[in-house]
Amino acid sequence: MSHTHYAGDPRQITARFPSTCHTCGKPIKKGETIIYWPNGKKAGHYDCDIEDYRQSIASFEDEDRYNNVYH
Ligand SMILES: [Zn+2]
Repeated sequence: MSHTHYAGDPRQITARFPSTCHTCGKPIKKGETIIYWPNGKKAGHYDCDIEDYRQSIASFEDEDRYNNVYH
């Protein structure tokens, strides 16, 4: 079993349209690097969300290791 990614994986993308940061509430400009959270259809500034993003990625990696050991 090599299922690594989920539909809700957060990802780092370039904003394709202006929106509002779900963390600080300030505007996100088109072309800015943002973290996108498909689960909640939320977007946040890179600087606002990078810590949460890293933690999410780290937990996915932990799960990978877990799967490699036990499957
Ligand atoms: Zn922000």
